Amino acid sequence: MSRRYKVLALVGDGIAHEIVPEALKLLEAVQEVYGFDLEVIGPYEFGAKYYADHDMMEGWDPMVTRELLFEADCWFKGPVGLPEYLNRLPGPYLPINQRLDMDVYANIRPCRLRPGVDSVLVGREQGDIDYLVLRENTEHMYVRAGGQLSRGGETELAVDNYIQTRKGCERIIRYGYELARSGDYKGRAGAPVDGKRRLTCAAKWGICRGDNLFKEVCEELEPRYPDVETDYAWIDAWSYWAIMRPGYYDVAVMPNQYGDIMSDMSGAIQGSMGLAGSINAGDRHCYAEPTHGSAPDIAGRGVANPTSMILSVGMMLNWLGDKRGDKRLKDAWRGIDAAVDRVLEARRVRTPDLGGNSSTVEFGDAVVEALAST
Ligand code: NAD
Repeated sequence: MSRRYKVLALVGDGIAHEIVPEALKLLEAVQEVYGFDLEVIGPYEFGAKYYADHDMMEGWDPMVTRELLFEADCWFKGPVGLPEYLNRLPGPYLPINQRLDMDVYANIRPCRLRPGVDSVLVGREQGDIDYLVLRENTEHMYVRAGGQLSRGGETELAVDNYIQTRKGCERIIRYGYELARSGDYKGRAGAPVDGKRRLTCAAKWGICRGDNLFKEVCEELEPRYPDVETDYAWIDAWSYWAIMRPGYYDVAVMPNQYGDIMSDMSGAIQGSMGLAGSINAGDRHCYAEPTHGSAPDIAGRGVANPTSMILSVGMMLNWLGDKRGDKRLKDAWRGIDAAVDRVLEARRVRTPDLGGNSSTVEFGDAVVEALAST
């Protein structure tokens, strides 16, 4: 197979300027090790600060067009947005709008306690925590159906409606069952505590009608996946149980906003937001971005953990490998995942979020070195 894959790289804000170069370095190395060919387009500036500084809000000729996003085999970006540039990102460039536009309905966010990482949960060891948060990405609170009433220049009332459709529920729940079956993006298939393939459906039924539908659809699909145990949890209780018995979980599927919040919590459960990789996957498109934001509190110091960005691009290659039937890309993801584990386990190079004093670049170099010595 000699196909060249087009991968678009976008930078973003804050620590994006530090972690995206590490992902690019890794992509360079991984092609050599696994023998495939990527045409990397960019990296292009894509952050809220960039658009504000260049006053490109009106009548501008953007480098990153919608066509460019759609033509790429897949793409990745660092986090975008900064508190001081709130609402300054042009609408089409907001992540929530891109997810809708590209219909990347499955946001896959792994939570694994990796070797060499001290758990924030007392007594948990490597292998004790290994679940996926599967967040529905195109419905619920973030579809922006609502409005506001202003009188005399003051907002008096603001309404957000949340939306859940049968199609939206069905496709994300099916995706969850398939992930539980395949064990993709996990250390190994099944829940750590008992090895069972398990889908946990988490929402707030009984109170929210859209969440009633989410659960109903899961109950309808359940008999079609007899090899996967189905588990139901109210989302508020799930936030408790994920901390108290994380090893029970395998794949937890949930509506958009709950998934957004629970995946940040899972960033803490796995030891640092800097380890939290993520992809936005659909049937035709996929883009990778870390779970976290632009981390303005540490930006510009060269100490951000690039693991989240590195794992995200690795997951993106895995998705592409499935879509194009190219095993080399899937092997590359496994290789990247294992290289990260080896560097963490050695405890020699680690960024400050994990208690070390290495720089972003030193950590990225160590992963590339581990990958090359596979
Ligand atoms: P954040 O996720 O940026 O940071 C939360 C905490 O995690 C901070 O203490 C930060 O230092 C730490 N952290 C995050 N990534 C890290 C890394 N790679 N290594 C080490 N530590 C890391 O959350 P925030 O401060 O609430 O958000 C900052 C900005 O990011 C906001 O403007 C927000 O809108 C934006 N944001 C963007 C995205 C996205 O692009 N998809 C997602 C979330 C937030």
